[in-house]
Amino acid sequence: MLRRIIAENGRDHRWSYAVVIVCSLLVSGATAFSAWVMAPMVNEIFYERRGDAIVWICAGFMGAFIVRGFAGYGQAIALATIGNNLVARYQKRIFDHLMRLGVDFFSDTRSGRLAAQVDENVGGIRDLLSLTLISITRDAVTLVGLVALMVYQDPVLSLSSLLIGPPLIWAVVYITRRVRKINRESVLINSRLTGSIQEATQGIAIVKAFTMEDELARRIGIMADTAEQRSNKIARVSERLSPISDMLAGLAVTAVIAYSGYRALVLGQPPGAVFSFITALILAYDPARRLARMQVTMERALVNARMIYELLDLEPKQSDATDAVEARITTGEVRFSNVTFGYSADMPVLRDLSFTAAAGKVTAVVGASGAGKSTMVALLQRFYDVDMGSIEIDGQDISKVTKRSLRQSIAYVSQAPYLFEGTIRDNIRYGRLSAADAEIEQAAKQAAADEFIRQQPQGYDTPVGENGATLSGGQRQRVSIARAIVRQAPILLLDEATSALDNEAEARVQEALTHVMEGRTTIVIAHRLSTVVNADRIIVLEEGRLVEEGTHASLMADPHSIYARFHRIQGKKGLGLVDDVKPIQTSQRAKKAVGRKA
Ligand code: ADP
Repeated sequence: MLRRIIAENGRDHRWSYAVVIVCSLLVSGATAFSAWVMAPMVNEIFYERRGDAIVWICAGFMGAFIVRGFAGYGQAIALATIGNNLVARYQKRIFDHLMRLGVDFFSDTRSGRLAAQVDENVGGIRDLLSLTLISITRDAVTLVGLVALMVYQDPVLSLSSLLIGPPLIWAVVYITRRVRKINRESVLINSRLTGSIQEATQGIAIVKAFTMEDELARRIGIMADTAEQRSNKIARVSERLSPISDMLAGLAVTAVIAYSGYRALVLGQPPGAVFSFITALILAYDPARRLARMQVTMERALVNARMIYELLDLEPKQSDATDAVEARITTGEVRFSNVTFGYSADMPVLRDLSFTAAAGKVTAVVGASGAGKSTMVALLQRFYDVDMGSIEIDGQDISKVTKRSLRQSIAYVSQAPYLFEGTIRDNIRYGRLSAADAEIEQAAKQAAADEFIRQQPQGYDTPVGENGATLSGGQRQRVSIARAIVRQAPILLLDEATSALDNEAEARVQEALTHVMEGRTTIVIAHRLSTVVNADRIIVLEEGRLVEEGTHASLMADPHSIYARFHRIQGKKGLGLVDDVKPIQTSQRAKKAVGRKA
Protein backbone atom coordinates (compact mmCIF):
# COMPACT_ATOMS: atom_id res chain seq x y z
CA MET A 1 0.00 0.00 0.00
CA LEU A 2 2.73 2.38 1.06
CA ARG A 3 4.73 1.54 -2.03
CA ARG A 4 1.72 2.31 -4.22
CA ILE A 5 1.15 5.67 -2.57
CA ILE A 6 4.78 6.63 -2.95
CA ALA A 7 4.95 5.33 -6.52
CA GLU A 8 1.90 7.36 -7.48
CA ASN A 9 2.89 10.55 -5.75
CA GLY A 10 6.58 10.41 -4.93
CA ARG A 11 8.10 11.81 -8.07
CA ASP A 12 6.56 15.25 -7.88
CA HIS A 13 7.94 15.92 -4.44
CA ARG A 14 11.55 15.01 -5.03
CA TRP A 15 12.85 18.34 -3.75
CA SER A 16 10.69 18.35 -0.68
CA TYR A 17 11.86 14.84 0.13
CA ALA A 18 15.46 15.94 -0.32
CA VAL A 19 14.88 18.78 2.16
CA VAL A 20 13.28 16.33 4.58
CA ILE A 21 16.20 13.94 4.35
CA VAL A 22 18.92 16.57 4.74
CA CYS A 23 17.09 18.15 7.68
CA SER A 24 16.61 14.74 9.29
CA LEU A 25 20.29 13.97 9.01
CA LEU A 26 21.09 17.30 10.63
CA VAL A 27 18.60 16.72 13.44
CA SER A 28 19.96 13.26 14.09
CA GLY A 29 23.59 14.38 13.89
CA ALA A 30 22.94 17.22 16.32
CA THR A 31 21.20 14.88 18.74
CA ALA A 32 24.02 12.34 18.67
CA PHE A 33 26.52 15.15 19.07
CA SER A 34 24.78 16.48 22.18
CA ALA A 35 25.03 13.00 23.71
CA TRP A 36 28.65 12.56 22.69
CA VAL A 37 29.61 15.90 24.22
CA MET A 38 28.69 14.53 27.65
CA ALA A 39 31.90 12.49 27.68
CA PRO A 40 34.39 15.39 27.27
CA MET A 41 32.18 17.51 29.53
CA VAL A 42 32.41 15.10 32.45
CA ASN A 43 36.02 14.14 31.83
CA GLU A 44 37.51 17.54 30.94
CA ILE A 45 35.46 19.87 33.14
CA PHE A 46 34.62 17.81 36.21
CA TYR A 47 37.34 15.17 36.27
CA GLU A 48 40.35 17.03 34.82
CA ARG A 49 39.07 20.47 36.00
CA ARG A 50 40.10 22.34 32.80
CA GLY A 51 38.55 25.81 32.53
CA ASP A 52 39.20 26.30 28.79
CA ALA A 53 37.04 23.26 27.98
CA ILE A 54 33.97 25.07 29.31
CA VAL A 55 33.99 27.51 26.39
CA TRP A 56 34.12 25.05 23.51
CA ILE A 57 31.84 22.53 25.13
CA CYS A 58 29.21 25.20 25.76
CA ALA A 59 29.62 26.55 22.22
CA GLY A 60 29.31 23.06 20.79
CA PHE A 61 26.22 22.36 22.81
CA MET A 62 24.55 25.61 21.84
CA GLY A 63 25.50 25.09 18.18
CA ALA A 64 24.01 21.60 18.16
CA PHE A 65 20.70 22.88 19.51
CA ILE A 66 20.51 25.76 17.03
CA VAL A 67 21.13 23.38 14.12
CA ARG A 68 18.55 20.97 15.52
CA GLY A 69 15.95 23.74 15.86
CA PHE A 70 16.28 25.05 12.32
CA ALA A 71 16.58 21.63 10.73
CA GLY A 72 13.48 20.51 12.63
CA TYR A 73 11.63 23.55 11.30
CA GLY A 74 12.65 22.90 7.69
CA GLN A 75 11.69 19.26 8.04
CA ALA A 76 8.25 20.03 9.46
CA ILE A 77 7.45 22.58 6.75
CA ALA A 78 8.55 20.27 3.94
CA LEU A 79 6.49 17.42 5.36
CA ALA A 80 3.42 19.59 5.80
CA THR A 81 3.70 20.80 2.19
CA ILE A 82 3.90 17.24 0.91
CA GLY A 83 1.01 16.16 3.12
CA ASN A 84 -1.29 19.03 2.13
CA ASN A 85 -0.53 18.55 -1.54
CA LEU A 86 -1.30 14.88 -1.16
CA VAL A 87 -4.68 15.63 0.37
CA ALA A 88 -5.57 17.98 -2.49
CA ARG A 89 -4.42 15.40 -5.02
CA TYR A 90 -6.49 12.57 -3.60
CA GLN A 91 -9.51 14.84 -3.25
CA LYS A 92 -9.27 15.71 -6.93
CA ARG A 93 -8.60 12.14 -7.96
CA ILE A 94 -11.48 10.77 -5.94
CA PHE A 95 -13.91 13.37 -7.22
CA ASP A 96 -12.87 12.73 -10.83
CA HIS A 97 -13.29 9.06 -10.21
CA LEU A 98 -16.69 9.44 -8.57
CA MET A 99 -17.89 11.43 -11.55
CA ARG A 100 -16.81 8.61 -13.84
CA LEU A 101 -18.65 5.94 -11.89
CA GLY A 102 -22.06 4.92 -13.15
CA VAL A 103 -25.35 5.94 -11.57
CA ASP A 104 -25.66 2.38 -10.28
CA PHE A 105 -22.89 3.11 -7.77
CA PHE A 106 -24.73 6.12 -6.40
CA SER A 107 -28.04 4.36 -6.06
CA ASP A 108 -26.29 1.87 -3.76
CA THR A 109 -24.32 4.43 -1.73
CA ARG A 110 -25.44 7.13 0.64
CA SER A 111 -23.91 10.39 -0.48
CA GLY A 112 -23.38 11.93 2.95
CA ARG A 113 -21.58 8.87 4.21
CA LEU A 114 -19.48 8.73 1.06
CA ALA A 115 -18.35 12.34 1.48
CA ALA A 116 -17.51 11.83 5.13
CA GLN A 117 -15.61 8.65 4.40
CA VAL A 118 -13.57 10.31 1.67
CA ASP A 119 -12.76 13.17 4.01
CA GLU A 120 -11.65 10.94 6.85
CA ASN A 121 -9.66 8.61 4.66
CA VAL A 122 -7.81 11.30 2.74
CA GLY A 123 -6.64 12.75 6.04
CA GLY A 124 -5.47 9.26 6.90
CA ILE A 125 -3.31 9.02 3.82
CA ARG A 126 -1.63 12.29 4.69
CA ASP A 127 -0.91 11.03 8.19
CA LEU A 128 0.43 7.83 6.76
CA LEU A 129 2.92 9.63 4.63
CA SER A 130 4.09 12.19 7.16
CA LEU A 131 4.21 9.59 9.91
CA THR A 132 6.30 7.22 7.90
CA LEU A 133 8.58 9.95 6.71
CA ILE A 134 9.06 11.43 10.17
CA SER A 135 9.66 8.02 11.66
CA ILE A 136 11.89 6.67 8.96
CA THR A 137 13.92 9.78 8.47
CA ARG A 138 14.16 11.53 11.78
CA ASP A 139 13.57 8.77 14.30
CA ALA A 140 15.32 5.94 12.52
CA VAL A 141 18.31 8.08 11.55
CA THR A 142 18.52 9.53 15.05
CA LEU A 143 18.32 6.08 16.54
CA VAL A 144 21.07 4.77 14.32
CA GLY A 145 23.28 7.75 15.27
CA LEU A 146 22.71 7.24 18.97
CA VAL A 147 23.19 3.47 18.87
CA ALA A 148 26.43 3.97 16.95
CA LEU A 149 27.59 6.34 19.67
CA MET A 150 26.60 3.84 22.35
CA VAL A 151 28.55 1.05 20.68
CA TYR A 152 31.54 3.36 20.27
CA GLN A 153 31.47 4.36 23.93
CA ASP A 154 30.80 0.92 25.34
CA PRO A 155 30.13 -2.19 23.24
CA VAL A 156 29.35 -4.45 26.21
CA LEU A 157 26.80 -2.11 27.73
CA SER A 158 25.25 -1.58 24.29
CA LEU A 159 24.71 -5.25 23.77
CA SER A 160 22.96 -5.64 27.10
CA SER A 161 20.63 -2.70 26.51
CA LEU A 162 19.73 -3.88 23.02
CA LEU A 163 18.34 -7.05 24.57
CA ILE A 164 15.05 -5.25 25.19
CA GLY A 165 14.51 -5.10 21.41
CA PRO A 166 12.93 -8.52 20.82
CA PRO A 167 10.23 -8.30 23.53
CA LEU A 168 9.38 -4.80 22.32
CA ILE A 169 8.91 -6.02 18.76
CA TRP A 170 6.71 -8.85 19.99
CA ALA A 171 4.50 -6.37 21.87
CA VAL A 172 4.17 -4.17 18.79
CA VAL A 173 3.11 -7.04 16.56
CA TYR A 174 0.52 -8.19 19.07
CA ILE A 175 -1.01 -4.75 19.51
CA THR A 176 -1.05 -3.95 15.80
CA ARG A 177 -3.07 -7.03 15.12
CA ARG A 178 -5.63 -6.12 17.76
CA VAL A 179 -5.97 -2.54 16.52
CA ARG A 180 -6.50 -3.37 12.85
CA LYS A 181 -10.07 -4.56 13.12
CA ILE A 182 -11.28 -1.84 15.48
CA ASN A 183 -9.85 0.81 13.16
CA ARG A 184 -11.99 -0.15 10.23
CA GLU A 185 -15.09 -0.22 12.40
CA SER A 186 -14.17 3.18 13.70
CA VAL A 187 -13.83 4.77 10.25
CA LEU A 188 -17.16 3.29 9.20
CA ILE A 189 -19.03 4.44 12.27
CA ASN A 190 -17.51 7.93 12.08
CA SER A 191 -18.49 8.37 8.45
CA ARG A 192 -21.99 7.10 9.18
CA LEU A 193 -22.24 9.66 11.93
CA THR A 194 -21.03 12.57 9.80
CA GLY A 195 -23.16 11.41 6.88
CA SER A 196 -26.29 11.23 9.04
CA ILE A 197 -25.72 14.72 10.34
CA GLN A 198 -25.38 15.96 6.78
CA GLU A 199 -28.53 14.18 5.64
CA ALA A 200 -30.52 15.49 8.58
CA THR A 201 -29.52 19.06 7.80
CA GLN A 202 -30.27 18.62 4.09
CA GLY A 203 -33.72 17.29 4.85
CA ILE A 204 -34.37 19.80 7.59
CA ALA A 205 -37.85 20.71 6.28
CA ILE A 206 -38.98 17.07 6.49
CA VAL A 207 -37.29 16.67 9.86
CA LYS A 208 -39.25 19.57 11.28
CA ALA A 209 -42.51 18.80 9.50
CA PHE A 210 -42.57 15.28 10.93
CA THR A 211 -41.11 16.44 14.28
CA MET A 212 -38.32 13.92 13.83
CA GLU A 213 -35.83 16.02 15.82
CA ASP A 214 -35.84 13.94 18.99
CA GLU A 215 -35.78 10.60 17.21
CA LEU A 216 -32.91 11.69 14.96
CA ALA A 217 -31.05 13.13 17.91
CA ARG A 218 -31.48 9.80 19.66
CA ARG A 219 -30.12 7.85 16.70
CA ILE A 220 -27.22 10.20 16.17
CA GLY A 221 -26.57 10.05 19.90
CA ILE A 222 -26.27 6.27 19.72
CA MET A 223 -23.81 6.54 16.83
CA ALA A 224 -21.79 9.18 18.65
CA ASP A 225 -21.64 6.92 21.70
CA THR A 226 -20.53 3.97 19.62
CA ALA A 227 -17.88 6.11 17.92
CA GLU A 228 -16.70 7.25 21.34
CA GLN A 229 -16.46 3.66 22.58
CA ARG A 230 -14.53 2.62 19.49
CA SER A 231 -12.08 5.47 19.91
CA ASN A 232 -11.66 4.62 23.58
CA LYS A 233 -11.03 1.00 22.70
CA ILE A 234 -8.41 1.99 20.14
CA ALA A 235 -6.75 4.19 22.74
CA ARG A 236 -6.82 1.43 25.37
CA VAL A 237 -5.33 -1.15 23.04
CA SER A 238 -2.70 1.02 21.40
CA GLU A 239 -1.64 2.69 24.64
CA ARG A 240 -0.77 -0.72 26.06
CA LEU A 241 2.51 -0.14 24.32
CA SER A 242 3.43 2.66 26.77
CA PRO A 243 3.70 0.64 29.99
CA ILE A 244 5.41 -2.22 28.15
CA SER A 245 8.04 -0.07 26.50
CA ASP A 246 8.59 2.06 29.61
CA MET A 247 9.15 -0.98 31.77
CA LEU A 248 11.58 -2.45 29.27
CA ALA A 249 13.44 0.87 29.02
CA GLY A 250 13.59 1.13 32.81
CA LEU A 251 15.05 -2.33 32.91
CA ALA A 252 17.75 -1.40 30.42
CA VAL A 253 18.71 1.84 32.18
CA THR A 254 18.78 0.13 35.61
CA ALA A 255 21.03 -2.63 34.27
CA VAL A 256 23.39 -0.09 32.72
CA ILE A 257 23.58 2.02 35.88
CA ALA A 258 24.21 -1.03 38.08
CA TYR A 259 26.97 -2.40 35.86
CA SER A 260 28.68 0.93 35.20
CA GLY A 261 28.42 1.88 38.88
CA TYR A 262 30.17 -1.36 39.73
CA ARG A 263 32.89 -0.57 37.19
CA ALA A 264 33.40 2.98 38.49
CA LEU A 265 33.48 2.01 42.16
CA VAL A 266 35.33 -1.28 41.95
CA LEU A 267 37.52 -0.78 38.85
CA GLY A 268 37.92 3.06 39.11
CA GLN A 269 37.15 3.90 35.46
CA PRO A 270 36.68 7.62 34.49
CA PRO A 271 32.95 8.41 34.35
CA GLY A 272 32.82 10.37 31.02
CA ALA A 273 32.08 7.51 28.65
CA VAL A 274 29.38 6.15 30.92
CA PHE A 275 27.65 9.54 31.14
CA SER A 276 27.74 9.86 27.39
CA PHE A 277 26.42 6.32 27.07
CA ILE A 278 23.52 6.86 29.44
CA THR A 279 22.63 10.16 27.78
CA ALA A 280 22.57 8.43 24.39
CA LEU A 281 20.47 5.62 25.83
CA ILE A 282 17.92 7.99 27.29
CA LEU A 283 17.85 10.09 24.13
CA ALA A 284 17.43 6.93 22.05
CA TYR A 285 14.42 5.87 24.01
CA ASP A 286 12.05 8.46 22.53
CA PRO A 287 12.69 7.78 18.86
CA ALA A 288 12.71 4.03 19.55
CA ARG A 289 9.34 4.27 21.23
CA ARG A 290 7.97 6.41 18.42
CA LEU A 291 9.19 3.90 15.85
CA ALA A 292 7.50 1.11 17.73
CA ARG A 293 4.33 3.13 18.04
CA MET A 294 4.48 4.08 14.37
CA GLN A 295 3.55 0.55 13.48
CA VAL A 296 0.37 0.87 15.50
CA THR A 297 -0.56 4.35 14.27
CA MET A 298 0.31 3.44 10.74
CA GLU A 299 -2.14 0.61 10.94
CA ARG A 300 -4.94 3.14 11.17
CA ALA A 301 -3.62 5.18 8.27
CA LEU A 302 -3.31 2.00 6.23
CA VAL A 303 -6.96 1.24 6.85
CA ASN A 304 -7.77 4.70 5.49
CA ALA A 305 -5.53 4.23 2.48
CA ARG A 306 -7.04 0.85 1.74
CA MET A 307 -10.54 2.26 1.83
CA ILE A 308 -9.54 5.06 -0.55
CA TYR A 309 -8.08 2.60 -3.01
CA GLU A 310 -11.12 0.35 -2.77
CA LEU A 311 -13.02 3.33 -4.12
CA LEU A 312 -10.41 4.36 -6.68
CA ASP A 313 -10.13 0.80 -7.95
CA LEU A 314 -13.85 0.49 -8.63
CA GLU A 315 -14.23 0.22 -12.37
CA PRO A 316 -17.17 2.06 -13.89
CA LYS A 317 -19.55 -0.75 -14.85
CA GLN A 318 -20.17 0.39 -18.37
CA SER A 319 -17.60 2.27 -20.35
CA ASP A 320 -17.32 3.32 -23.96
CA ALA A 321 -16.57 0.59 -26.46
CA THR A 322 -12.96 0.78 -27.64
CA ASP A 323 -14.13 1.66 -31.15
CA ALA A 324 -16.83 4.09 -29.97
CA VAL A 325 -17.41 7.00 -32.32
CA GLU A 326 -18.93 10.44 -31.83
CA ALA A 327 -22.70 10.45 -32.14
CA ARG A 328 -23.82 12.26 -35.30
CA ILE A 329 -27.30 13.50 -34.71
CA THR A 330 -29.27 14.86 -37.65
CA THR A 331 -32.97 14.76 -36.89
CA GLY A 332 -32.96 13.19 -33.43
CA GLU A 333 -35.24 10.25 -34.10
CA VAL A 334 -35.19 7.78 -31.20
CA ARG A 335 -35.97 4.12 -31.74
CA PHE A 336 -36.27 1.41 -29.09
CA SER A 337 -36.10 -2.07 -30.67
CA ASN A 338 -37.07 -5.08 -28.53
CA VAL A 339 -35.41 -3.61 -25.46
CA THR A 340 -35.29 -5.86 -22.42
CA PHE A 341 -33.62 -4.68 -19.25
CA GLY A 342 -33.55 -5.45 -15.53
CA TYR A 343 -31.56 -3.98 -12.65
CA SER A 344 -30.95 -7.53 -11.52
CA ALA A 345 -30.69 -10.45 -13.89
CA ASP A 346 -33.81 -12.28 -12.75
CA MET A 347 -36.21 -9.35 -12.66
CA PRO A 348 -36.79 -7.66 -16.03
CA VAL A 349 -38.15 -4.14 -15.67
CA LEU A 350 -38.59 -3.48 -19.39
CA ARG A 351 -39.71 -6.36 -21.58
CA ASP A 352 -39.34 -6.42 -25.34
CA LEU A 353 -40.09 -2.72 -25.65
CA SER A 354 -40.25 -1.27 -29.16
CA PHE A 355 -41.36 2.16 -30.24
CA THR A 356 -40.18 5.14 -32.22
CA ALA A 357 -40.15 8.71 -30.98
CA ALA A 358 -40.44 10.68 -34.19
CA ALA A 359 -37.99 13.46 -34.86
CA GLY A 360 -39.14 16.87 -33.65
CA LYS A 361 -42.34 15.45 -32.19
CA VAL A 362 -43.59 14.97 -28.62
CA THR A 363 -43.94 11.41 -27.38
CA ALA A 364 -45.68 11.07 -24.05
CA VAL A 365 -45.09 8.02 -21.89
CA VAL A 366 -47.90 7.04 -19.59
CA GLY A 367 -48.06 4.21 -17.10
CA ALA A 368 -48.63 3.33 -13.49
CA SER A 369 -45.92 3.79 -10.93
CA GLY A 370 -43.23 1.16 -11.37
CA ALA A 371 -44.16 0.54 -15.00
CA GLY A 372 -40.61 1.39 -16.07
CA LYS A 373 -40.93 4.93 -17.39
CA SER A 374 -37.92 6.36 -15.55
CA THR A 375 -35.90 3.29 -16.39
CA MET A 376 -36.59 3.89 -20.07
CA VAL A 377 -35.33 7.46 -19.80
CA ALA A 378 -32.24 6.25 -17.91
CA LEU A 379 -31.47 3.71 -20.63
CA LEU A 380 -31.70 6.31 -23.36
CA GLN A 381 -29.01 8.31 -21.55
CA ARG A 382 -27.02 5.11 -21.16
CA PHE A 383 -26.95 5.21 -17.38
CA TYR A 384 -27.36 1.46 -17.78
CA ASP A 385 -26.87 -0.86 -20.74
CA VAL A 386 -29.77 -2.81 -22.21
CA ASP A 387 -29.78 -6.59 -21.69
CA MET A 388 -31.32 -7.32 -25.08
CA GLY A 389 -32.41 -5.31 -28.07
CA SER A 390 -31.07 -1.90 -28.97
CA ILE A 391 -31.70 1.80 -28.73
CA GLU A 392 -30.89 3.89 -31.78
CA ILE A 393 -30.75 7.60 -32.39
CA ASP A 394 -30.84 8.50 -36.08
CA GLY A 395 -29.96 4.90 -36.84
CA GLN A 396 -26.85 4.82 -34.60
CA ASP A 397 -26.82 2.28 -31.80
CA ILE A 398 -26.19 4.27 -28.61
CA SER A 399 -23.93 1.54 -27.25
CA LYS A 400 -21.53 2.21 -30.13
CA VAL A 401 -21.11 5.94 -29.61
CA THR A 402 -19.25 7.74 -26.84
CA LYS A 403 -21.36 8.44 -23.80
CA ARG A 404 -20.19 12.01 -23.81
CA SER A 405 -21.38 12.75 -27.33
CA LEU A 406 -24.62 10.88 -26.68
CA ARG A 407 -25.40 12.91 -23.59
CA GLN A 408 -24.41 16.14 -25.27
CA SER A 409 -27.24 15.62 -27.69
CA ILE A 410 -29.75 15.22 -24.88
CA ALA A 411 -31.23 17.82 -22.57
CA TYR A 412 -32.82 16.42 -19.44
CA VAL A 413 -35.28 18.13 -17.15
CA SER A 414 -35.82 16.08 -14.05
CA GLN A 415 -38.77 16.03 -11.75
CA ALA A 416 -36.86 17.50 -8.87
CA PRO A 417 -34.88 20.38 -10.35
CA TYR A 418 -31.43 20.30 -8.85
CA LEU A 419 -29.48 23.51 -8.50
CA PHE A 420 -25.77 23.43 -7.77
CA GLU A 421 -23.58 25.68 -5.68
CA GLY A 422 -22.97 28.88 -7.64
CA THR A 423 -25.02 31.70 -9.13
CA ILE A 424 -28.23 31.42 -11.13
CA ARG A 425 -26.20 32.23 -14.23
CA ASP A 426 -23.77 29.39 -13.48
CA ASN A 427 -26.68 27.03 -13.02
CA ILE A 428 -28.13 27.83 -16.42
CA ARG A 429 -24.70 27.71 -18.03
CA TYR A 430 -24.17 24.12 -16.88
CA GLY A 431 -26.45 23.34 -19.84
CA ARG A 432 -23.63 24.37 -22.17
CA LEU A 433 -20.45 25.86 -20.78
CA SER A 434 -19.71 27.82 -23.94
CA ALA A 435 -23.03 29.69 -23.80
CA ALA A 436 -22.65 33.47 -23.90
CA ASP A 437 -24.41 35.65 -21.32
CA ALA A 438 -26.87 36.84 -23.96
CA GLU A 439 -27.81 33.24 -24.78
CA ILE A 440 -28.34 32.53 -21.11
CA GLU A 441 -30.66 35.48 -20.72
CA GLN A 442 -32.48 34.55 -23.92
CA ALA A 443 -33.01 31.01 -22.61
CA ALA A 444 -34.23 32.37 -19.29
CA LYS A 445 -36.75 34.56 -21.17
CA GLN A 446 -38.03 31.54 -23.09
CA ALA A 447 -38.28 29.62 -19.84
CA ALA A 448 -40.31 32.45 -18.32
CA ALA A 449 -37.57 32.88 -15.74
CA ASP A 450 -36.01 36.18 -16.79
CA GLU A 451 -38.45 38.32 -14.85
CA PHE A 452 -38.01 36.75 -11.43
CA ILE A 453 -34.28 36.32 -11.90
CA ARG A 454 -33.95 40.07 -12.45
CA GLN A 455 -35.86 40.65 -9.24
CA GLN A 456 -33.28 38.72 -7.23
CA PRO A 457 -30.87 40.92 -5.23
CA GLN A 458 -28.00 40.46 -7.69
CA GLY A 459 -30.02 39.40 -10.70
CA TYR A 460 -28.38 36.60 -12.65
CA ASP A 461 -25.39 36.69 -10.33
CA THR A 462 -27.38 35.85 -7.21
CA PRO A 463 -25.92 32.78 -5.54
CA VAL A 464 -28.51 30.06 -5.07
CA GLY A 465 -28.92 28.66 -1.59
CA GLU A 466 -28.31 24.99 -1.10
CA ASN A 467 -30.55 23.17 -3.57
CA GLY A 468 -31.99 26.54 -4.57
CA ALA A 469 -33.56 27.21 -1.21
CA THR A 470 -34.06 30.89 -1.98
CA LEU A 471 -36.16 30.09 -5.07
CA SER A 472 -39.65 28.62 -5.10
CA GLY A 473 -40.32 25.19 -6.57
CA GLY A 474 -41.78 26.63 -9.78
CA GLN A 475 -38.87 29.06 -10.15
CA ARG A 476 -36.36 26.30 -9.70
CA GLN A 477 -38.12 24.29 -12.36
CA ARG A 478 -37.93 27.20 -14.75
CA VAL A 479 -34.21 27.67 -14.08
CA SER A 480 -33.67 24.01 -14.90
CA ILE A 481 -35.76 24.39 -18.05
CA ALA A 482 -33.59 27.35 -19.07
CA ARG A 483 -30.60 25.07 -18.52
CA ALA A 484 -32.16 22.58 -20.94
CA ILE A 485 -32.86 25.29 -23.53
CA VAL A 486 -29.27 26.57 -23.39
CA ARG A 487 -28.04 23.07 -24.13
CA GLN A 488 -29.38 23.33 -27.70
CA ALA A 489 -29.71 19.57 -27.82
CA PRO A 490 -31.91 17.93 -30.45
CA ILE A 491 -33.45 15.54 -27.93
CA LEU A 492 -35.32 16.55 -24.81
CA LEU A 493 -36.13 14.18 -21.97
CA LEU A 494 -38.66 15.53 -19.63
CA ASP A 495 -39.84 14.05 -16.38
CA GLU A 496 -42.84 16.13 -15.45
CA ALA A 497 -43.11 17.10 -11.83
CA THR A 498 -45.90 15.47 -9.91
CA SER A 499 -45.64 18.05 -7.16
CA ALA A 500 -48.49 20.49 -7.32
CA LEU A 501 -47.65 24.08 -8.12
CA ASP A 502 -50.13 26.90 -7.78
CA ASN A 503 -52.05 27.75 -10.93
CA GLU A 504 -49.96 30.72 -11.90
CA ALA A 505 -46.66 28.89 -11.43
CA GLU A 506 -48.06 25.87 -13.22
CA ALA A 507 -49.06 27.99 -16.20
CA ARG A 508 -45.60 29.59 -16.31
CA VAL A 509 -43.84 26.23 -16.21
CA GLN A 510 -46.13 24.99 -18.93
CA GLU A 511 -45.34 28.01 -21.07
CA ALA A 512 -41.62 27.40 -20.55
CA LEU A 513 -42.00 23.75 -21.52
CA THR A 514 -43.86 24.58 -24.70
CA HIS A 515 -40.88 26.67 -25.73
CA VAL A 516 -38.29 24.07 -24.95
CA MET A 517 -40.20 21.29 -26.76
CA GLU A 518 -40.40 23.28 -29.97
CA GLY A 519 -38.57 21.50 -32.80
CA ARG A 520 -37.01 18.92 -30.48
CA THR A 521 -37.60 15.22 -30.26
CA THR A 522 -39.27 15.18 -26.87
CA ILE A 523 -39.92 12.17 -24.71
CA VAL A 524 -41.94 13.15 -21.71
CA ILE A 525 -42.96 11.12 -18.70
CA ALA A 526 -46.35 12.74 -18.53
CA HIS A 527 -48.26 13.54 -15.41
CA ARG A 528 -50.32 16.41 -16.74
CA LEU A 529 -53.38 15.90 -18.83
CA SER A 530 -52.59 18.81 -21.12
CA THR A 531 -49.23 17.24 -21.98
CA VAL A 532 -50.76 13.90 -22.92
CA VAL A 533 -53.60 15.41 -24.85
CA ASN A 534 -51.31 17.61 -26.90
CA ALA A 535 -48.65 14.95 -27.47
CA ASP A 536 -48.10 13.74 -31.03
CA ARG A 537 -47.91 10.20 -29.79
CA ILE A 538 -48.71 8.45 -26.56
CA ILE A 539 -47.25 5.15 -25.45
CA VAL A 540 -48.72 3.29 -22.53
CA LEU A 541 -46.46 1.08 -20.44
CA GLU A 542 -47.59 -1.67 -18.14
CA GLU A 543 -45.09 -3.74 -16.19
CA GLY A 544 -42.38 -2.84 -18.63
CA ARG A 545 -44.35 -3.75 -21.75
CA LEU A 546 -45.75 -1.42 -24.32
CA VAL A 547 -49.45 -2.15 -24.20
CA GLU A 548 -50.98 0.68 -26.21
CA GLU A 549 -49.81 3.30 -28.60
CA GLY A 550 -51.58 6.14 -30.41
CA THR A 551 -52.87 9.66 -30.02
CA HIS A 552 -55.21 10.87 -27.33
CA ALA A 553 -58.13 10.72 -29.72
CA SER A 554 -57.35 7.26 -31.08
CA LEU A 555 -56.77 5.78 -27.64
CA MET A 556 -59.90 7.35 -26.21
CA ALA A 557 -61.92 6.00 -29.11
CA ASP A 558 -61.77 2.55 -27.53
CA PRO A 559 -63.55 2.83 -24.18
CA HIS A 560 -61.92 -0.43 -23.05
CA SER A 561 -58.36 0.78 -23.64
CA ILE A 562 -56.06 0.96 -20.65
CA TYR A 563 -55.48 4.59 -21.45
CA ALA A 564 -59.18 5.33 -21.31
CA ARG A 565 -59.41 3.44 -18.03
CA PHE A 566 -56.61 5.60 -16.63
CA HIS A 567 -58.66 8.61 -17.32
CA ARG A 568 -61.79 7.18 -15.86
CA ILE A 569 -60.01 6.29 -12.65
CA GLN A 570 -57.60 9.12 -12.22
CA GLY A 571 -58.41 11.91 -14.55
CA LYS A 572 -62.19 11.92 -14.64
CA LYS A 573 -62.41 15.51 -13.72
CA GLY A 574 -59.96 16.55 -16.34
CA LEU A 575 -61.28 14.52 -19.26
CA GLY A 576 -61.69 16.55 -22.34
CA LEU A 577 -60.41 19.72 -20.71
CA VAL A 578 -57.32 20.44 -22.73
CA ASP A 579 -56.16 23.22 -20.47
CA ASP A 580 -56.59 21.33 -17.26
CA VAL A 581 -53.17 21.04 -15.74
CA LYS A 582 -53.93 18.68 -12.87
CA PRO A 583 -51.41 15.86 -12.68
CA ILE A 584 -52.71 12.41 -13.57
CA GLN A 585 -50.87 10.99 -10.56
CA THR A 586 -49.64 7.99 -12.44
CA SER A 587 -46.46 7.73 -10.58
CA GLN A 588 -45.60 8.42 -7.02
CA ARG A 589 -42.60 6.21 -7.07
CA ALA A 590 -41.16 7.65 -10.26
CA LYS A 591 -40.10 10.63 -8.23
CA LYS A 592 -38.26 8.45 -5.80
CA ALA A 593 -36.68 6.35 -8.54
CA VAL A 594 -35.34 9.38 -10.35
CA GLY A 595 -34.14 10.91 -7.13
CA ARG A 596 -32.09 7.77 -6.55
CA LYS A 597 -30.70 7.75 -10.05
CA ALA A 598 -29.90 11.43 -10.14
P1 ADP B 1 -41.72 4.37 -13.15
O1 ADP B 1 -40.82 5.47 -13.52
O2 ADP B 1 -42.64 3.95 -14.24
O3 ADP B 1 -42.44 4.59 -11.87
P2 ADP B 1 -39.27 2.94 -12.71
O4 ADP B 1 -38.60 2.88 -14.02
O5 ADP B 1 -38.79 3.97 -11.74
O6 ADP B 1 -40.84 3.07 -12.91
O7 ADP B 1 -39.15 1.54 -11.98
C1 ADP B 1 -39.45 0.32 -12.60
C2 ADP B 1 -39.04 -0.81 -11.67
O8 ADP B 1 -37.64 -0.82 -11.53
C3 ADP B 1 -39.62 -0.70 -10.29
O9 ADP B 1 -40.04 -1.98 -9.89
C4 ADP B 1 -38.48 -0.21 -9.43
O10 ADP B 1 -38.56 -0.74 -8.14
C5 ADP B 1 -37.27 -0.78 -10.17
N1 ADP B 1 -36.11 0.13 -10.03
C6 ADP B 1 -36.06 1.43 -10.37
N2 ADP B 1 -34.82 1.94 -10.17
C7 ADP B 1 -34.07 0.93 -9.67
C8 ADP B 1 -32.70 0.81 -9.26
N3 ADP B 1 -31.83 1.83 -9.31
N4 ADP B 1 -32.28 -0.40 -8.82
C9 ADP B 1 -33.13 -1.44 -8.77
N5 ADP B 1 -34.42 -1.40 -9.14
C10 ADP B 1 -34.91 -0.24 -9.59
